[in-house]
Amino acid sequence: MLEDLKISVCDANLELVKRGVVIYTWGNVSGISSDGKYMVIKPSGVEYDKMSPDDMVVVDIESGLRVEGKWNPSSDTKTHLALYRKFKNIKGIVHTHSVNAVAFAQAGIAIPALGTTHADYFYGDIPCTRELTKQEVMEDYEANTGKVIIETVDNGGYDPMAIPGIIVKNHGPFAWGEKSGKCSIQCCCAGKSSGDGFKDASAKSEG
Ligand SMILES: [Zn+2]
Repeated sequence: MLEDLKISVCDANLELVKRGVVIYTWGNVSGISSDGKYMVIKPSGVEYDKMSPDDMVVVDIESGLRVEGKWNPSSDTKTHLALYRKFKNIKGIVHTHSVNAVAFAQAGIAIPALGTTHADYFYGDIPCTRELTKQEVMEDYEANTGKVIIETVDNGGYDPMAIPGIIVKNHGPFAWGEKSGKCSIQCCCAGKSSGDGFKDASAKSEG
């Protein structure tokens, strides 16, 4: 099922490697089916250089259960599910550990809107969430990461499609969009923004 979506989600995952915003297997892209019922996401722990569309995992958005795929879904699956359930216009989500964005995550500060390319993708600063409590970390880190992202958007009172990404304190960036390809560019923007003037962001068209 969802063979085309598996191809585009796999491609978007591999794009992160090409862009230098993930190392090892840390990072993930997902996309949802046009009826909004299923998410296709990167498998957990599979090396990027061996990854093919057949390795992608299909998860039921409502139940959170795997419905197809030979691997477990990405360890960040519960975070992706929380965002799809809450923000109905999202079609794709990207998470990376890009060095520059992680520096902001460790410092716990928003990425300020200082450049024109940032402004092309984000209508304002990219906010940083609060730190999760010890209890939230122990209890269910990935689900509570989704919760704290939603809380930050709600408290900020902004449109998540106008600022389609966020920095999770002590972790890294999550970005989303109406297409999974486009949101991988946004995550690159978030990743590159502090360090080298967004030089990657204009290199790829929406897809
Ligand atoms: Zn991560």
